[in-house]
Parts: sequence; C-alpha cells; structure tokens
Amino acid sequence: LFITFEGPEGAGKSTQARRLYERLQAAGYPVILTREPGGTRIGELIRRILIDLRHTEMAPTTEILLFSAARAQLVSELIRPYLATGGIVVCDRYADSTFAYQGYGLGRDLEELRVITEVATGGLKPDLTFYLQIDVEIGLQRKQHARERSERGGQPAEWNRLDARDLAYHRRVMHGFVELMKQEPERWHALDADQPVDELAEQIWHAVMPLLDR
Ligand code: C5P
Repeated sequence: LFITFEGPEGAGKSTQARRLYERLQAAGYPVILTREPGGTRIGELIRRILIDLRHTEMAPTTEILLFSAARAQLVSELIRPYLATGGIVVCDRYADSTFAYQGYGLGRDLEELRVITEVATGGLKPDLTFYLQIDVEIGLQRKQHARERSERGGQPAEWNRLDARDLAYHRRVMHGFVELMKQEPERWHALDADQPVDELAEQIWHAVMPLLDR
C-alpha cells in the first residue's frame, strides 16, 4: 500500500504523514515514512542542492530533472523494494507535486513532465493520495511562522524565502492540484487542513482503515 500526501505549503502534510505512520506502526503494520525530495542519501543531497540553488541560475529543466532524479532514487532504493515485501509506504509529496509546481506553477509542458515522471518512477503511482486543502495565504503564513520559529532556534530556514512572496504562483499550483484531482478522482482524498491536527489525523485514519488487510 502506497500512500502520499500532497497540498500547498503549510497545510501540515509532514505532521499528518508522521501521525499516520505512527498510528500504523502502533497497530503493528510494517510501514516506512519518507519524503520528497529526499528519503535516501542521494535524494537528501539533491534536496540540499535544490534548497540552496533553485532560485539562482538553475535552469528550469535542471530543476525538474533534480526533483525527478531524487524521486527515481527513492522509488528504486526504498519504495519499490518495501512495497514488494508487503509493507506500507507513507510519503510526504510525490510526483503530483512536480505536475502542480513545475507544470501548473511554472508553466512547464505537462506532456514532457509525464514522460520524465514515467522514466523516474517506472509508472509507480500511489494507491491513495491525501490532498490537504488550505487557503494559499493561510498556508504561507503558517509556513512563515514555522520558519521564524526555527530561525530563532538557530536553525537555518529550509527552502528559499522567495517562494513565500509569490502568491500568484502558489495559486496556480493550487489550481494544478485541483486539475490533477479531477483527472483521477478515485485516487485522491481531499480534506480540509484548516482544522485541529487531531481531527484531521482521525479523518485520515478513517480513510486508510478500509484499505488495510486487503
Ligand atoms: O511543503 P514542503 O516543505 O514539502 O515543500 C518543499 C518545497 O519544495 C516547497 O517550497 C515546494 O514549493 C517545493 N517543491 C517544488 N516542486 C516539487 C516538490 C516541491 O517546487 N516537485
């Protein structure tokens, strides 16, 4: 069983992915939690390059290929082998993010992204994808607060601050997610992320339960 979390910044994907992972583990299921870009040694190094250099001289195609390279490594090193043992994989972002961000957000050709994604994943798709819905501005505010907290704590902020300023871009990304959901409604499960963490976690658990032990 392969479960992914998608949505705009600040929707709480990482928190909910972790909660689901912990609950599955507590219930005795073999499960791993991973994230994109990253999740492997190579993928985390690529993540570092993307964080540091994405809004510099990096060519748009380089950006796409780096996200995809990290994904290719994650799929072949971790996700496929673990699914093959019958385990459950919970992943914070996956290929849908590429279509939403690089495709709808930055205007890259969707067909080209499909080809690259097919190569990177070998066609592996999630069984279930949670879309955590949040108003773009609320999400960016949440993310900004989290940044300030980590900076005060002496931690450097992840990802480029430029991201937070471009509302129109984030609206295009959000519209992209909506379009992606329309194309495959059976795979997606959209939930309102502007509610208490525990309630959202409960709704996610209820959506996952029927898929267990099948
Ligand atoms: O929300 P999260 O911390 O996972 O986001 C990481 C960053 O990566 C975000 O700034 C998002 O805009 C970006 N991203 C992207 N393209 C992807 C995946 C993530 O631009 N395919």
